[in-house]
This record gives sequence, C-alpha cells and structure tokens, in this order.
Amino acid sequence: AQKKKMSLTGRVILGMVLGILTGFIIRSLFAESSFVHEYIVNGLFEVGGAIFIASLKMLVVPLVFVSLVCGTSTLKDISTLGRLGGKTLAFYLTTTAIAISLALVMGNLFKPGAGADLSAATSFASKEAPSLGQVIIDMFPTNPISSMANGNTLQIIVFAILFGIAISAAGKPGERIAGIFADLNEVIMKLVALLMNIAPFGVFFLMAKLFTGLGLDAIFNLFGYFLVLTCTLLLHGIVVYGTLFKIFTGLSPKLFLKKMEDAIMFAFSTASSNATIPVTMETATKRLGVKNRIASFTVPLGATINMDGTAIMQGVATAFIAQAFNIDLTMGDYLMVIATATLASIGTAGVPGVGLIMLAMVLNQVGLPVEGIAIIMGVDRLLDMIRTAVNITGDSCVTCIVAKSEGEMDIDRFNDPHAGEKEE
Ligand code: ASP
Repeated sequence: AQKKKMSLTGRVILGMVLGILTGFIIRSLFAESSFVHEYIVNGLFEVGGAIFIASLKMLVVPLVFVSLVCGTSTLKDISTLGRLGGKTLAFYLTTTAIAISLALVMGNLFKPGAGADLSAATSFASKEAPSLGQVIIDMFPTNPISSMANGNTLQIIVFAILFGIAISAAGKPGERIAGIFADLNEVIMKLVALLMNIAPFGVFFLMAKLFTGLGLDAIFNLFGYFLVLTCTLLLHGIVVYGTLFKIFTGLSPKLFLKKMEDAIMFAFSTASSNATIPVTMETATKRLGVKNRIASFTVPLGATINMDGTAIMQGVATAFIAQAFNIDLTMGDYLMVIATATLASIGTAGVPGVGLIMLAMVLNQVGLPVEGIAIIMGVDRLLDMIRTAVNITGDSCVTCIVAKSEGEMDIDRFNDPHAGEKEE
C-alpha cells in the first residue's frame, strides 16, 4: 500500500519542534563555539529565516490589492459594502474591548505585579497615541503607489475598494478588467500555495535562531506576568472566540480552531499578523469556506486593526506595572486604558513587537512610568508569538461570523474536515 505523505501542517510542526530542539542543543552544547554561532546561527539560520519572512511579506501587498479588487468588483451594490464594513468594524471593536477588559480583570484578580523586583528598569522612549481624527485621515492615500510601496494596508484597502466599485460601475470595460483581476487572483493564490512548501524549513530556521538566543531566565523572574498573560490569551482564544463562533455561526468551534492550525503556526513563528495574511486568507477561503468577497476585505483589515492578543497584553501589562510601582488606577484610568489600547491597535500595523510601542502609549495616557516596559521586555518575544496567534484567530473568527451572516460561507466546505488540506 502507498504510504500516506505527511500533511503540510505536520511538516511545519516538525520543523518547529526540531528548530526549538536545535536551539536548545546549541545553547547548551555549543555556547562557546564561534564557528557554530558565526556560520550556523548567524549564517544559515538567519539567512534561511529572513528569506522565509521576505517571501511571505512579498505576497502581502499584491494579494491584498488584487483579492480585494476582485471581492468588491463582484459585490452587488454599494449598500452591501456599507453593511459589510459596519458589521466587520463592530465585531472587531467589540472583540478587542472584550479582550482588554478580560485582561484587566485577570490582571487585577491575580496581581502578577505585586512585589515585583524593579531593579532591571531602564529607560524606554514613548510616543503619543494618535488621535482618532489622525487615524482616519491616515487611511486615505494621496498616492496609491506609495501606499503600496510602503505596505500601508489601510490605504491599500481604501484604494482597492474604490477601484473595485469603479470596475463594477464601468460596464463592458469594467467586465474585462474584472476578468483580468480574477485571473491574477488565481495566480497569486497559486504562488501562496507554492511558497507554503518552504514553510517547514523557514519555520525551522526561525525557531532555531530564536531559541538559541532567547533569554529564558527572564521567564522565571517574571513568571507571574507570563503565566497570567498566557492563560488570558488562551482563555480568550479558546473560550471567548469559541463561544462567539458558536453563537453567531451555529457551526462547530472545535472544527474552526482545528482548521486554524496552519495560520496559527505561521503567526506563532513569524510574530507578525501582516506577514501571515497570505496564510490566513488561504485558510479562510480554502479550509473555512469563506467566500473571497468577504475574506479579501476582513482578513487584511483585521490584520491591521484587530489585535485582541495585543490588547490583552496591554491590559495585563498595565495592571502589572501599576502593581509593581504601587500606583492605584481609578475606574476612569481603566476606561482610558481600554480606549487608548483599542485606538492604538487601529493605528498600528501587525508586525513583530509593535505591542510594546502601543503599550508605551497606553502607559503614557494613564500616567504610569514607561520604564516599566523595560522589565517585561525580556519575555516579550515569546509572548509576541502567542498573542499574534490570538490576533489572527480573532480576525478569522470575525471573518466567519460576518461571512455566515451574509450567506457567503460554504458550509459543506467548512464541515469537511479535510477541505483545503495540503499533502505532497
Ligand atoms: N506582533 C503582533 C502582530 O503582528 C503585534 C504585537 O502585539 O506586537 O499581530
């Protein structure tokens, strides 16, 4: 009988586990070897990982633009678009507000910062939170080519929607252009599928490099913070999304989470919702059965403005820092934290580490010492990976909810446990 080949997911998991093990082996056995560090860790691993990330990022701008133009040019009318946008925004904002409230409750219940040692504190520069007005102004491109060159997702979304609307209104020429975009979309999705084949190696390199240098002792010092944050992330990722998914789609949340495995792993190893967009899109359309019309809009939008995992980090970290510095926060302060964190998450793109920058804005806003960030920085990289996985799970959950409510979800495909799975 023919031996069954391992699925892509299986190979990515294997790459991840081997990478983590390799990192630990190098740390403990080859810590002194300059050859290993120079040629393997900072040579092979670094180059391999960087190529993998670059190839994912390479796909983001063309994919977002082309698929969204396709999506909007097939919408029946403008009011559908308005309804879709309204619904999506409402869900994104609500899930973020739930996330951060949950985090504040957990942070105050378990008090991870009480009695923390602050000796490590050094300085950390902060920025002002953007105003709502500025966030909205910044969404509108003055030059679509420069938006694409800079990878400004919100501006690309705005331009793509307008372009798509014009296509559907332009009669015969519009139909011809729509045909070209539909073909382009197929080709780009094919490219995504092709590049996914290097993922097991890319993930291996990234993990091996990361775990060779990761300061795990920091976790022991910050154990309370790490634990409360991780539990809150899991609680939100599984219970909150599971419940929302069940209530609003009536479909199986277990199957949803199972099908998210590839996207979750990519998010985990890249720590970037943006770089994961191609995989999230694939998962949403091929495995979860969401029509491209919806996913092409909600996925890139979510990767940019919806960061529940990051919001949870802001909540727990704020509580932690307030406790560590013995500062009492009022109810008004907490509301301020919720508002700032939500706004900051709209204004910042999903790339590694931006959570810390947003946290600086939040701390500033409620008058907490920004130096507090220096304490938690040591464990942030690992937490960044986990919260990015939560971020994209949230995007996909809302994507399904919106798609189902619009009748744009292929239920048979969703219910088929193997739909869209890849084998080689
Ligand atoms: N890395 C996260 C993301 O891309 C953002 C963050 O929390 O730093 O979603």
